[in-house]
Amino acid sequence: KKEILTSPFVEEMCDTTRNMYEHGWDERNGGNISYLLSEEEVAPYLDVEDVKRTIPIDFDAIALAGKCFIVTGSGKYFKNVHKDPETNLGVIRVGNDGSYVELLWGYKDGSVPTSELPSHFQSHISRLEVDLENRVIMHCHATHLLAMTFTHSMEEKELTRKLWQLCTECLVVFPEGVSTIPWIVPGTNEIGEATSAKMKETRLVIWPQHGVYGAGKDMDETFGLIETVEKAAEVYTYVQAQGGMKTSISDENLKALAERFEVVPREGYLSI
Ligand code: 13P
Ligand code: ZN
Repeated sequence: KKEILTSPFVEEMCDTTRNMYEHGWDERNGGNISYLLSEEEVAPYLDVEDVKRTIPIDFDAIALAGKCFIVTGSGKYFKNVHKDPETNLGVIRVGNDGSYVELLWGYKDGSVPTSELPSHFQSHISRLEVDLENRVIMHCHATHLLAMTFTHSMEEKELTRKLWQLCTECLVVFPEGVSTIPWIVPGTNEIGEATSAKMKETRLVIWPQHGVYGAGKDMDETFGLIETVEKAAEVYTYVQAQGGMKTSISDENLKALAERFEVVPREGYLSI
């Protein structure tokens, strides 16, 4: 077998966790990533018959039975992943009845997948229903976006429109807008259900006073999605500090932008 530390998926997890840490979005153990892997990707690196451990999960993941993921470990620090991938990451396969996962590699110190596995797995289930190519779910504590959940309306249309107005690229990158959920205890099935329900409509779900979830086809796309919404929130922070918005992008301009880049803005979100 080839050395798994040289696999594209381990390298991508290392690069992305490090990058996110450097952005200040993942203090301590904050944040988690799950990345759906195909059999063909895993097979050159791992004996898929060699199950190291079985880890029970207390939600129904039957829709993902047999699927493999590389997932950050619970309590693990993003700043450390690249220094010791085998302790901080794990490759897991969902068991046949959806009530457990099988550890194929990683979590070397006996640790387990992220405490947010319910939100990740349920979000994968939702996204795969709308986009068969969706492979990545990413959670972090993006600073300015988190701050905005204290100062801005969390009403989805109002928040989406504000973000679209703050950076010209936003509408092009997330034309379906952003979703929000109420404050719910993290790591629970309940927050997983609320998040995954929203994931059917938008790839961005904001958790008030906590952070954000993003979904996408690959690591770059998902990181780029969070980076873009976080940039808009950062601009909002400066704009408010400079005395507030005196002008913004008009709905006519947003409509022209959507036409030029061939995206469809969320129905009813523009007032023209
Ligand atoms: P984990 O360390 O279990 O991944 O949790 C971090 C986090 O961000 C919880 O929301
Ligand atoms: Zn978190």
